[in-house]
Amino acid sequence: MLHRFCVWNSKFNGFTFEFENFNTYNYELFVFYTKRLVFPTNFYLKISPSTIADLFLQPMTTPANILDTPIEYLTGVGPIRGDMLKKELRIFTYRDLLYHFPFRYIDKTRFHRIIDLTEDSDTVQLKGILRRVELIGDGRVKRLVGTFRDETGSIDLIWFQQIHFLERALVVGTEYIVYGRVNHYNGRFSLPHPEMEVATPEAVSKAPTFDPVYPSTAKLDAKSLDAKGQRKLIRTLFEKIKPQDVGENLPDYILQKFKLPPQYDALLKIHFPENPIELENARKRLKFEELFFLQLKLLQAKKIRKTNIRGHFFEHVGALFNRFYSEILPFDLTGAQKRVLKEIRRDLGSQIQMNRLLQGDVGSGKTVVAFMSMLLALDNGFQACMMAPTEILAQQHFEGISEYCQQMGIGVDFLSGSIKGKKRQAVLDKLLSGETQILIGTHAMFEDWVVFKNLGLAITDEQHRFGVEQRGKLWKKSQPYPPHVLVMSATPIPRTLAMTLYGDLDVSVIDELPKGRKPIKTEHRTDNHRLRVIQFMKDEIEKGRQIYVVYPLIEESEKLDLLNLMEGFESLSRDFPPPQYQIAIVHGKMPAKDKDYEMQRFVKREAQIMVATTVIEVGVNVPNASVMVIEHSERFGLSQLHQLRGRVGRGADQSYCILMSSFKLTADARERIQTMCRTTDGFEIAEADLKLRGPGDIEGTAQSGVLNLHIADLAKDGKILQVARYTANELLEEDAKLERPEHQCLKNYLSLQDKQTKVWSRIS
Ligand code: ADP
Ligand code: MG
Repeated sequence: MLHRFCVWNSKFNGFTFEFENFNTYNYELFVFYTKRLVFPTNFYLKISPSTIADLFLQPMTTPANILDTPIEYLTGVGPIRGDMLKKELRIFTYRDLLYHFPFRYIDKTRFHRIIDLTEDSDTVQLKGILRRVELIGDGRVKRLVGTFRDETGSIDLIWFQQIHFLERALVVGTEYIVYGRVNHYNGRFSLPHPEMEVATPEAVSKAPTFDPVYPSTAKLDAKSLDAKGQRKLIRTLFEKIKPQDVGENLPDYILQKFKLPPQYDALLKIHFPENPIELENARKRLKFEELFFLQLKLLQAKKIRKTNIRGHFFEHVGALFNRFYSEILPFDLTGAQKRVLKEIRRDLGSQIQMNRLLQGDVGSGKTVVAFMSMLLALDNGFQACMMAPTEILAQQHFEGISEYCQQMGIGVDFLSGSIKGKKRQAVLDKLLSGETQILIGTHAMFEDWVVFKNLGLAITDEQHRFGVEQRGKLWKKSQPYPPHVLVMSATPIPRTLAMTLYGDLDVSVIDELPKGRKPIKTEHRTDNHRLRVIQFMKDEIEKGRQIYVVYPLIEESEKLDLLNLMEGFESLSRDFPPPQYQIAIVHGKMPAKDKDYEMQRFVKREAQIMVATTVIEVGVNVPNASVMVIEHSERFGLSQLHQLRGRVGRGADQSYCILMSSFKLTADARERIQTMCRTTDGFEIAEADLKLRGPGDIEGTAQSGVLNLHIADLAKDGKILQVARYTANELLEEDAKLERPEHQCLKNYLSLQDKQTKVWSRIS
C-alpha cells in the first residue's frame, strides 16, 4: 500500500514526500522519494512524538488524472505557498499551473545589432564595448550614463540607482554583454538598468536561453514565487507529467488542417520554447484552442435554443404596425432599417424565441425599429417593454415613444426605481390588467414584483452594460414561453467583442444613416486657438445655431472637475455676455428640477449655449444644435467622444465637433483625438478603441467572461477568432451533439471546463 503525504515543517518547508508502510504507531516513515532533498533512497526518517507535532501530515487521495492534484502537493509548494498561489494567481491544481502562461520571454538566444533596434524593440541582448561612463546631474537626481557601442552603432546605458558602486565597477574599454528593455526617447535608444556581464569567451559561447517571465506580485515575490520561482515550479511540473496526462482536446483532423502542434507540445513550448518559431506555433495552437471552445459553447447554446426553445407566435402584421408605417412615421425608413425589421419579423413569426442583437451607429435610427417591433407584439395581443441603462435615457425613450403612442391610442407607462408607493402600485396594476401595453423604464422592471399580463417582447438598450444573467431574469416574466428578446447596443461593438459577448445571439446591423445627414466636421484645437474658436461659435450663433460645451466629470476628480466646469462657465459668460447671449448649465450634481429648467431653456432656444458635463451624453435631442465643443477632450474615452459628437448633426445643417485639449498629449490621447478627426464611423472607432484599451477597459466586458481569456487577445486575434468560430460552426452543422468518435475529445473537455467553472464559483 502506497501512501502519499505532504510533509511540512520549518526544515522541509514545501517538500512532498511519498511514504510506504506508514505506521502511525511508532512514527516511523519510510521515505522512498526524496529527489529534492539529497537523502539516500532508502532513508528512514525517524520522527519522535515531539517533532511530529511540528509536522503537517495530510493523506492525499490520488486523483484520476494527476493534473487535478491540488497545487500544494507539488514539490516545492506546500501549504503556505499553495495558499499564496491560490489567492494571488488563482492556481488551484497542477492543471491551473500548466495553463499559467508567461507574459513575455527573456530572449538570450542571439545578439541584436544596435542598428536593427526599432521603436517596437522590446528586450534585447547586445555585445559591444563600453566607451564612456559619465555621471550626469547633481543634487538628488543623478544618473549614470554609459555609452555602449557595437560594430553598427551606439546606445546609452542608464542607471539611476547604485550609481556610485557601478561607476567604480564598470571598466571603460571592456567588451560586455548587456541585456535589457529598450527605451526610446527623443529619437535615441537607451537601456535603463541593463544586466551587464563581461564578454569573456565562456560568457559569449554560453548556451542560449529563452526564459519565460510570469506575472508576479509583491506578496508572491516575498515567498520566492517571483517569475524565477514560478519558472522552477513549472519545470518541476513537467518532470511529473507525461503527454498522456495532458491528452488532446482537439480532433486530429483540425490539428492537421491548421497545422497545429499537439496539446502537450504546445503547453511545453509556451513555457519553454527554444526559439521564436516554436513559441509562435504554441501560441497559435493555444489561442485557437481557447477561442474555439468558447465559440463551440456559444454556438451550441444558440443551436439548442433554436431547436428547443419555443417562442410566442406573432402570426400577423396587424393594424397598428401598418397604420404607423403609412400614416404616422414622419420619414422614410432607410434600406438598412427595413432589412433589419424584416429580420426581426421573420424571427417573431418563427415560433422560436428570438434572441437578437441590434447594432447601429449613433443616430442610425434604432429607436424607431425598436418601436415598430413592439407594435408587432401589440398587434398579436402581447405587451412589450423597453429597458434603458439609466433613468435619463429611459425617460428620453419614454417621451419619444409616448408621442407616437398617444397618436395611436396605445397604453404606455414608465417604471423606474424612483417611482414608489401608490404611484408604483398604479403602474403595476395597469401592467397586470393589460391596460399598459408598452412599459418603458430602467432595470427596476427586472424585479420579481413586476408582473406583466402577457409580455411578448422585451427590448434592452444596453450600452454594453447588462450581463447575460440579468437578461436571463427577463425570461421568467412570460408564460408559457420566454419573451422574445431584442438587445440594442448604444454604440457599435467591435466585431470580435460582439462575437464573444453576444456570440449566442443573432445579429442585425443598421449600417446606413438616414438620408440628408451631412457628416460632422471634427477638428482638434489646442488652448492657444481659443479666441478663434470663440469667434467661430459667435458666427454659428449668428446663423441661428445652438452650441454644446462639454466638460469631463469623473468621479475620482469630481470636485476639481466641477470647479473646472464653473470656471469655464464664467469665462464663457465673459465672452458671450447677456442679454445678447444666454447660457444654460447642467451637471449631475444639480437637483432634477433645476436640470430640467436649464435643459428646457436650451430646447426652447432661449439659450444658445449649453454648458454641461457628460450628463448630456445620453440626454437631450436638439436638432438645431450644430456645434459640439468638448473641453479637455484628451480625458474622454473614444466611445464617449463618439457618443457626445452624436448629439449634433441631427438636423439638416452642417455640424461641427471641436476637440479642445492642452498642447501636450500622451500618445494614447493623441491617437484618440486623431481617430475622431479621421472618421465618423462608429464601427471603425469601436475597433480603434479596442486596440487602444484592450477588452478589459471596455464597459460590460467584466461580467462577460471575455476577460478570463488566458492567452487570446480580442484586440489582436480577430483572425484566429474568426477561423475558430467558422470551424466550430461547421463542426456543429455536421455533428450537433458531438456524437462522432473523433469528437469525444471535445465533449470531454467541455465537461471538464464545466466542472472547473463550478469549482471556481464555489471557491470565489
Ligand atoms: P440611435 O440609433 O442613436 O438610437 P435614434 O433612434 O435616436 O438613433 O434616431 C436618431 C434621429 O434620427 C431621431 O431623431 C429619429 O427620429 C431620426 N430618424 C430615425 N430614422 C430615420 C430615417 N429613416 N429618416 C430620417 N430620420 C430618421
Ligand atoms: Mg438610441
